[in-house]
Amino acid sequence: MCEEKKGKSQAAKRKEELFLPKKKGCRAVSAEETAAADAFCEGYKTFLDSAKTEREAVASAIRLAEEAGFVPFDPEKTYQPGERVYLNNRNKALLLAVIGKNGTKNGVRLGIAHIDSPRLDLKPNPLYESADLALFKTHYYGGIKKYQWPTVPLALHGTVAFRDGTSVNVCLGDDPEDPCFLVSDLLPHLAVDQMSKVMTKAFNGEHLNVLVGSRPFNDDEESESVKLNVMHLLFEKYGMREADFQSADLCLVPADKARDVGFDRSMIGAYGHDDKVCAYPALMAALDAGVPESTVITVLTDREEIGSDGNTGMKSTFLVDFVADLAEAEGRKLRHVLRSSCCLSADVNAAFDPTYSGEFEANNSCYLNRGAVITKYTGSGGKYSTSDASAEYMAKIRSVLDNSAVLWQTGELGKVDGGGGGTIAKFVANWNVDVVDLGVPVLSMHAPMEVVSKIDVYMTYRALLAFYRAEKM
Ligand code: MN
Ligand code: MN
Repeated sequence: MCEEKKGKSQAAKRKEELFLPKKKGCRAVSAEETAAADAFCEGYKTFLDSAKTEREAVASAIRLAEEAGFVPFDPEKTYQPGERVYLNNRNKALLLAVIGKNGTKNGVRLGIAHIDSPRLDLKPNPLYESADLALFKTHYYGGIKKYQWPTVPLALHGTVAFRDGTSVNVCLGDDPEDPCFLVSDLLPHLAVDQMSKVMTKAFNGEHLNVLVGSRPFNDDEESESVKLNVMHLLFEKYGMREADFQSADLCLVPADKARDVGFDRSMIGAYGHDDKVCAYPALMAALDAGVPESTVITVLTDREEIGSDGNTGMKSTFLVDFVADLAEAEGRKLRHVLRSSCCLSADVNAAFDPTYSGEFEANNSCYLNRGAVITKYTGSGGKYSTSDASAEYMAKIRSVLDNSAVLWQTGELGKVDGGGGGTIAKFVANWNVDVVDLGVPVLSMHAPMEVVSKIDVYMTYRALLAFYRAEKM
């Protein structure tokens, strides 16, 4: 009798049975697993620094995949269980497949993350001179808050393609020895007008001009000699003339490297977590998938930040064509494979930010350090522009994650009617595939420096790996 009195009350017991478990967050993670998370994130930071653009992410991912035995895909070949192939789509998107014991018979497992991030693209005719300064005109890519980009050190990344078929890669500004580039801003003393404007008017797209030089070519009195000097240096270094900007994919990205954040080093601050923070775990899960039951396909896609249009984005047929190649090689029809396939759309969600708590709904937000976040639906308004994962599919995913002791949580993107956003899940769902979003909570999403928790990054890897390795879905 005494024992029972000391124990939990009836209500406490019943609560434990019936309520959603109390969120213990990283307190539920063992010291060993925390150490494993920290170690995993060292690899992630290295990848991130070498993958600021989708082209660099593809090149880095191929390097890692080839080291792990992946070889270029041959559509003429029939593959055996355990074989590992990749398909490079225009150096901007990548497919990696691990052939399963049952091949495509019971559908394929898809893990899809995107490797493009918001940035400043150069316009096709970017270089000009004004007031003895040389500047680049830019056209921003993706959803940025424009005021965040001035006075941040920027690096120039990309590829210049020449008419003779050759090309040169550009990566200048990340090394502390490199020069960097900058968008200027108005001093507060003269910003009386600017400061009284609404944010979208105070700083617009045509203000995003990047300072690239200030000294003239020689001392002669030619016009535009500062611009000429920049062009001269570009020719010396990259062999490019002004017309070559017309066949270039060049962009400016924040020059910082990924860094630990906090006294406890529990977080990572970096440019481009969205969505390399899911792409890297997905890639690592592909490398560690072993010989899965069903064929596993990891997709690192481009163009998500601008709506997935284009031949390297998820509205393109490149993934479905690849699934068709695998299916046909095994004598199956694409539609039969797709309808029994399932997908984790690996993308980030907005972490609850206590400084802006008013924009979130506390019970349905995701939080740093509470693990991978499952987002049943994204979209906006009355659930427009989204795929809403079914109850049955959510149940299967819950079961897979819980059976592998993955720390995970659910989250909506902010308050109802607070704004919204989408992911690639809806395009995947339209192919008749079961899909739900799973990824990493992010603070300051789309800012030049975004923040994530190391434990969440690791748990997203564990979640994808559990999904790839699950016997049945
Ligand atoms: Mn994203
Ligand atoms: Mn995004």
